[in-house]
Amino acid sequence: IEDKVYDYLKDLNEPQRQAVEKLEGSVLVLAGAGTGKTRVLTTRVAHILTLAKAWPSQILAVTFTNKASHEMRARIAHLIGNSAEGLWLGTFHALSVRILRSHAELAGLKSNFTILDADDQVRLVKQILKAENIDEKRWPPRLIQTIISRWKDRGYLPHKVPEYELSQDSANPALTIYKIYQERLKTLNAVDFGDLLLHCITIFSAHSDVLKRYQQQFRYVMVDEYQDTNVAQYLWLRLLAMGHNNICCVGDDDQSIYGWRGAEVANILRFEKDFPDAVVIRLEQNYRSTPEILGAAAALIAHNKDRLGKTLWTTQETGEKISLYGLWDGESEARFVGEEIERWQRAKESLASMAILVRAGHQTREFEDRLITLAIPYRVIGGPKFYERMEVRDALAYLRLIVQPEDSLSFERIINTPRRGIGNSTLQILNQFARLEQISLVHATGKLLGTDELKGAAKNSLRRFLTDLEHWQRCLQTMTPAELAQMVLDESGYTQMWMQDKSAEAPGRLENLKELVSALDEFQSLGDFLEHVSLVMDNNSAAQSEAVSIMTLHSAKGLEFNTVFLAGWEEGIFPNARSLDAEAREGLEEERRLAYVGLTRARKRVYISFVANRRLHGLWQSSLPSRFIDELPKDLVDIHTQPGLFARRSYEEEEQRIKKPLHLSSSALSPASMPRALYQVRDRVFHLKFGYGQVVEVMGDKLEVDFEHSGLKKVMTSFVEKK
Ligand code: ATP
Ligand code: MG
Repeated sequence: IEDKVYDYLKDLNEPQRQAVEKLEGSVLVLAGAGTGKTRVLTTRVAHILTLAKAWPSQILAVTFTNKASHEMRARIAHLIGNSAEGLWLGTFHALSVRILRSHAELAGLKSNFTILDADDQVRLVKQILKAENIDEKRWPPRLIQTIISRWKDRGYLPHKVPEYELSQDSANPALTIYKIYQERLKTLNAVDFGDLLLHCITIFSAHSDVLKRYQQQFRYVMVDEYQDTNVAQYLWLRLLAMGHNNICCVGDDDQSIYGWRGAEVANILRFEKDFPDAVVIRLEQNYRSTPEILGAAAALIAHNKDRLGKTLWTTQETGEKISLYGLWDGESEARFVGEEIERWQRAKESLASMAILVRAGHQTREFEDRLITLAIPYRVIGGPKFYERMEVRDALAYLRLIVQPEDSLSFERIINTPRRGIGNSTLQILNQFARLEQISLVHATGKLLGTDELKGAAKNSLRRFLTDLEHWQRCLQTMTPAELAQMVLDESGYTQMWMQDKSAEAPGRLENLKELVSALDEFQSLGDFLEHVSLVMDNNSAAQSEAVSIMTLHSAKGLEFNTVFLAGWEEGIFPNARSLDAEAREGLEEERRLAYVGLTRARKRVYISFVANRRLHGLWQSSLPSRFIDELPKDLVDIHTQPGLFARRSYEEEEQRIKKPLHLSSSALSPASMPRALYQVRDRVFHLKFGYGQVVEVMGDKLEVDFEHSGLKKVMTSFVEKK
């Protein structure tokens, strides 16, 4: 064991080693990016286990994301092998669920409680507003839900919300709704994310025996990315660690990027008060990046006022300057990034060591498309790939159905999205008939509409849908793919569906839909585009380790790559438009911290790019380089801009963008010729729904039957049996 101890400890510098070896009492490691904070935590766990100070189940380690906990688990296993199994290692939420399941009854729940997501929460608030006769227009459910979540992040149950948190407007129903909301959750045997922590805190405070049990169990508590904890998380931690005070938190105030979610840098200051014997350790040596990258990051973050302040140094040799590229538009930006990735690939850099980081989720699309064209494997971290996102798949299903009406999977996907009153029983009839006849669902629908197999409202909606579909198909020849897609999304009610949805995800989904329409602009025909997308879906590189990573800056926290592409550094995109509001100095500072996080992900080199013309939400806009670019020291940046960058687009280029309509599609509803059983007038038949009857008229594959109980009906021959 002595040797082993020596092995992993000797890979640490002096202050790191101190942070690892100080096992008893509280430790706060406050240090900049890439200084080995996460490494300290990992080594600390290994150290505790190696010294047999605790069993794995007696160690509680909190990470910010599930991905980070997987990574930490892997790193620990790498250090000491399998003896790490059984650790309480996970996110605040995952750990809280585990605790709450064992003590649900103390919170008035059953242990099989369900966890509501953001959508469910808004729906619940909506119900309550309706029941209370409160005007939804004046008090949108989404707003109320946000207020409730924020109170929960701050640790306030309904009766604890302080006066100053309440709105000046005495009509504001948030607190009333909050009370009812909590009661409703209890009757539903459900919790929301905020409750996971709050219920634990309530149980710990009311049942000292339970708290004591956990305090004794968790001999060592550790927290990564401490700067992003909110008040509720802090209270949770403090309760659990108060017994023995063996708590070690690591964080960097300059990387606090979740203020909008209630994270409080104040927790760092509070820590020293609550744990008065805390040893504060600062790490200043950065092991990740070149001096150029560190210099640029330091200069940038120096523009923030609210900082604890720190220095970073490295022994690494001089490397490359930051490469700044100004490009014509988003397409050329994506092309440029693709070319550079290929160049580094030829220079034997691994694809896994390269990452493209963007500000908002919808921005991944252009890069994904480019990498697909170049056949470079990639993965999107922290979310699905663009074309796999739910709303994009829905939209694609509409488009596929227009080009390819035989595509019954697409039909099923969207026939009741948005809701058209077409339920399972209707779908069952359609499916059964389509199977029997071996025809597509669209075709089956067309045939069944002429009969009584389908009923009332569903029948009317289906008829309307087919009429729309035929109309869209006719437009294939006259409209550009982008125009057509926009029209289909609007006319089908799909866009509307998300506009009415007040959940937190809805705006992002609408942005993705707009981005999809922009993507179509680059294709001659809908057919070409769908073929391209099929290739994307096929490019299943998720499991492949040799792949470029694409993600938002938020998802990049804690990660590192040799080469980092920071794309879309333009005013309004990054910093984003919302942060530029009048009273938003804090918002702007948070954006700058995000830029700092981005820069400090890089080991060897950083590319920053901005474009002169950005197609945003379907409109071309000329854009300005991000103010963050001006904040980088000139001597650390190599500037490259395309000549004539800020000139107007030429006539020829405009011309080039005009699309030629192409691709005609076969009509959906052309009748197929099918062999069928022969029926004659007066045949006795049996129909599953209508029972026995006698054939009155034969019309190809349709029959008119006089049923004994239901009278005259038109039915399909494939649904009847001759008796
Ligand atoms: P971030 O703030 O971005 O989360 P961090 O402070 O957690 O960064 P780590 O990810 O732990 O930093 O470490 C950054 C890199 O430096 C890693 O590749 C890590 O292996 C390496 N590293 C850390 N400490 C040392 C050391 N003493 N010797 C050599 N390499 C080190
Ligand atoms: Mg880290």
